[in-house]
Amino acid sequence: MTDCAQFIDRAKKIVGRDHCHTLPEQRAVYAYDAAVSDYMPGVVVFPADTAQVEQLVLLANKTNTPVTPRGAGTGMTGGSVAVCGGAVVVFSRMNRIISIDSQNLVACVQPGVITGKFQEAVEEKGLFYPPDPSSAAFSTIGGNVAQCAGGPRAVKYGVTRDYVLGLEAVTGKGEVISTGVKTAKGVVGYDLTRLIVGSAGTLALITRIFLRLLPLPESVRTLTAVFDRMEDAAGAVAQLFAAKIICRSIEYLDKAAIACAEKAMAAGLPTDAGALLLLEVDGDLASTESLAAKALEVCRQAGASQVAGLEDPERAKLYWKARKALSPALYQYGPHKINEDIVVPRNRIPQMVERINQIRERTGLTMVSFGHAGDGNIHVNIMLDKSDLAAAKKAEQAVEEIFDYTLELGGTISGEHGVGLTKAPYFSKEIGPASHRIMKEIKKVFDPNSILNPGKMP
Ligand SMILES: Cc1cc2nc3c(=O)[nH]c(=O)nc-3n(C[C@H](O)[C@H](O)[C@H](O)COP(=O)(O)OP(=O)(O)OC[C@H]3O[C@@H](n4cnc5c(N)ncnc54)[C@H](O)[C@@H]3O)c2cc1C
Repeated sequence: MTDCAQFIDRAKKIVGRDHCHTLPEQRAVYAYDAAVSDYMPGVVVFPADTAQVEQLVLLANKTNTPVTPRGAGTGMTGGSVAVCGGAVVVFSRMNRIISIDSQNLVACVQPGVITGKFQEAVEEKGLFYPPDPSSAAFSTIGGNVAQCAGGPRAVKYGVTRDYVLGLEAVTGKGEVISTGVKTAKGVVGYDLTRLIVGSAGTLALITRIFLRLLPLPESVRTLTAVFDRMEDAAGAVAQLFAAKIICRSIEYLDKAAIACAEKAMAAGLPTDAGALLLLEVDGDLASTESLAAKALEVCRQAGASQVAGLEDPERAKLYWKARKALSPALYQYGPHKINEDIVVPRNRIPQMVERINQIRERTGLTMVSFGHAGDGNIHVNIMLDKSDLAAAKKAEQAVEEIFDYTLELGGTISGEHGVGLTKAPYFSKEIGPASHRIMKEIKKVFDPNSILNPGKMP
């Protein structure tokens, strides 16, 4: 019997015996995410609808059982792992696209819908759902909303939060609430939708999502700009904005990241370059072409040794595939990854890149940087073997220095991945005591018995 035996007995009646996994080999599959492992849940349950989620949360309150919601478990900070044991609630059975309304440009989905599948479904109707985390092929919309996922297209189109009109959710108390609207606008009451978006399963379980859609752009073009020095690539990003050229994506890869992506995908990336910018522009045909020409000229002026507009869509697809394969491919540099996703004001990217380079040279750590440069969002990855205690200590100090400098430049310690477990020790570097107290009080209102995702909100 596990520590949540009472919960398990009754949960089987709520979701059905087959949808309540108790065997160690079944539970082990849910003991990890993309960053953290070895937190074995007591039970894993798969509800079919909102009513079952509501009953599970009421039961969890009665039996004092921790509840950790989970989409696809692709989170980067340990958000979906059950650090206090108890029940993991997985939304894979709640995976229906309920409606796509082409007249009102609104869709309604259950949380377990895979983001990439939803994108395909709206695109078939000539519509567009812009948020595109690199994990879109396997992460869920519910996880994206709970984490406020970003992605390459955020430069022009914003992040998940900007597309969530309203939610249905079950609070930690077990109340089903509807937040926001199903219309293009709405300002009645406090904005509970925004509060739940990005709350990482600590306030409520999201059971239904109303999303804003856009018309699908007529034309998209991928561009590349190759630089000898990372600092020049960073400068080019700042200059694109100064020239008021809004690309829909501006991704960058440093030398180590180019080599890593090329090894994983053999896409024909320029492995002798110091840095690569991968850009995307969109719009109607004429404006796409004109924007592409202007963007390439700015990159050339900023010191690019080669620039290209990729005419062949298959080649463009391959470049993007290589970029998206980068995160898992990094393990060729070491068995453990410390993965940070700092954001600095775009015009401060050159300074941040310079500091990262200094830290790399000073410490000798294997550091690989890539990310959403158009948002100032730099994924700094330190690859190491944590059993090497000296390297682990150095890495910890490097992270501390990176966070301190990020905040000094007016940035934030996480643009996408959230706090979860891994960033909890650094939370108070960014969030002051008064804001922190208000957050704790909000948590109490939603989840008075602290059963939702305990151990995550510092
Ligand atoms: C290769 C790779 C690339 C990635 N690229 C990006 C990227 O470009 N941009 C980006 O932002 N992230 C990225 N990520 C991180 C991750 O994919 C996102 O955070 C994603 O939104 C997580 O979705 P998920 O379904 O896997 O959620 P999970 O990891 O299962 O959960 C994430 C958080 O949401 C909570 N949660 C999940 N479902 C619900 C629900 N229905 N109700 C309440 N809470 C819930 C969980 O408790 C957890 O705290 C990447 C990850 C990988 C592995």
